[in-house]
Amino acid sequence: ATLSLVTDCLFCNIAAKEIPAEIVLETDRALAFRDINPQAPTHVLVIPKAHHENAAALAAADDGLADDLLQACHAVAVLEGVAESGYRVVLNTGLGAGQTVFHVHAHVLGGRSLLWPPG
Ligand code: 5GP
Ligand code: ZN
Repeated sequence: ATLSLVTDCLFCNIAAKEIPAEIVLETDRALAFRDINPQAPTHVLVIPKAHHENAAALAAADDGLADDLLQACHAVAVLEGVAESGYRVVLNTGLGAGQTVFHVHAHVLGGRSLLWPPG
């Protein structure tokens, strides 16, 4: 699109609808879409539309954005029908935790039994 800013960030491009994704929920500040490599029957990624590298940067934004993200996670769980059976919200933060996309994203996982600790 001619008026969009170019960004190298994959999830900024998904938020801008420059890269397609299977969207589950959209609010003014958050977007939820299915993970391309699902690890459970429900595996949805929830991102703030604004770029923040990780959970620490999101928390430091201090404008209610982290609250919005968590509320969107629960809304996704309700939409997906896993709120009653149970679901997991994961924020992989840093390389050692397996973070591969450096635009903060919450994994919402459900629809099967989830082991703890996750390994
Ligand atoms: P991380 O390991 O950073 O916590 O999770 C990144 C997640 O993004 C992975 O689960 C991966 O499958 C997912 N992912 C990577 N590229 C894409 C993509 O282009 N589209 C979608 N929908 N998910 C992606
Ligand atoms: Zn981004």
